Amino acid sequence: MSTDHFPLAIIGAGLGGLTAARVLHVHGIESAIFDLEASAAARTQGGMLDIHEENGQKSLHAAGLHDDFLKLVHEGGQAMRLLSPDGTVHVSEEDDGTGGRPEVDRGDLRDLLLNSLPAGTIHWGRKVIGARPLADGRHEVTFTDGSVITTDLLIGADGAWSRVRPLVSDAKPVYTGISLVETDLFEAATRHPHSAALVGGGFFIALGHERGFLAHRETDSSLHVYTALKADEDWLDTIDFTHHAAAKAAVLAHFEGWDEGLRDLVADAETISPRRIHALPVGHRWDRVPGVTLLGDAAHVMSPFAGEGANLAMFDGAELALAIAAHPGDTEAALSAYEAVLFPRSEASAAESAASLDTMFGKRGLEQMVEFFSTGPAAQ
Ligand SMILES: Cc1cc2nc3c(=O)[nH]c(=O)nc-3n(C[C@H](O)[C@H](O)[C@H](O)COP(=O)(O)OP(=O)(O)OC[C@H]3O[C@@H](n4cnc5c(N)ncnc54)[C@H](O)[C@@H]3O)c2cc1C
Repeated sequence: MSTDHFPLAIIGAGLGGLTAARVLHVHGIESAIFDLEASAAARTQGGMLDIHEENGQKSLHAAGLHDDFLKLVHEGGQAMRLLSPDGTVHVSEEDDGTGGRPEVDRGDLRDLLLNSLPAGTIHWGRKVIGARPLADGRHEVTFTDGSVITTDLLIGADGAWSRVRPLVSDAKPVYTGISLVETDLFEAATRHPHSAALVGGGFFIALGHERGFLAHRETDSSLHVYTALKADEDWLDTIDFTHHAAAKAAVLAHFEGWDEGLRDLVADAETISPRRIHALPVGHRWDRVPGVTLLGDAAHVMSPFAGEGANLAMFDGAELALAIAAHPGDTEAALSAYEAVLFPRSEASAAESAASLDTMFGKRGLEQMVEFFSTGPAAQ
């Protein structure tokens, strides 16, 4: 099999890799993206993301896509409700359109980026198994189908379990102690009106006893719910998620005595699936390695409880692309400039995410979150 050469190869077509490719394209620099998914439509990308002014939205400005992004915003999606286990509402805020963190559907945002790239940029169905440096400063990347490419600049945007990361670091994500069970309630307005009213138009949290329910109202009127609790790393393996009734019962056994409306977010769900939360060490960094770098979760996967990961992935992608554009012909200067600000930025967000996990699932989680939201949006 012949070896194709790509001057700039990005592994991973997540929000981070796509933003990097788009901002490079805006600056007249073409790249190739390789992703393990079979096609753009291979997997639904559900889930709402709030896109922050200071990073996610800045990236969309750099990508020349901010106006199109605004057309995707879920009106009313910045509403927020916080409840205790007995169903008492402690915080209820409507979306008055003035918040700085508009909500969008992750799939819509991804489509916006995908459609902004020249045809052929993304090579689908290419799962990387490893990469190695070559004597001439380039890198060789190997795929599961046996094919191999070489590249002058290798960008690992391949998420938490990055196959590019070992080129720069031995660090691996560690289980945070929090396990999630994800459920969906489809067509909530008509099929689950009580749950729809409970969750409201945007983001919803019910917390207590070091566990809780986190939910979003999606643009298609479904409810996406994360049931979160502290559990041993193998707890989810003890549940058979192919048997929905048994899986729901196993999860709800940890929510005995909670308000029935809250329990219905699991009991009435049409889907149920497990997810463990892993994080790289706070302050993860590496020494400069010629011709390769990381962005997004590959560089700094963190728990999702500060809502920063996707925003940071996009910001990293934009910042890396801008650094490359600002240092034509000097990749090492570009990577050094990018990493010099990447490391402190990621460390601050990772520390914030870890602290947020401790707060939410600590003994005074509810009280502290009520205080947090009472001090106003500036605290978010
Ligand atoms: C439950 C949950 C809720 C979250 N909520 C939020 C939120 O509200 N706000 C927020 O900002 N962030 C949130 N996050 C974090 C956010 O999802 C991630 O930080 C973000 O998706 C990282 O983007 P990325 O582009 O770095 O990586 P990813 O989105 O993981 O994309 C990586 C890409 O690489 C591809 N890939 C992986 N391995 C290979 C391989 N070996 N070969 C080729 N391709 C490969 C994958 O197919 C994928 O397309 C949440 C995360 C979780 C788990």
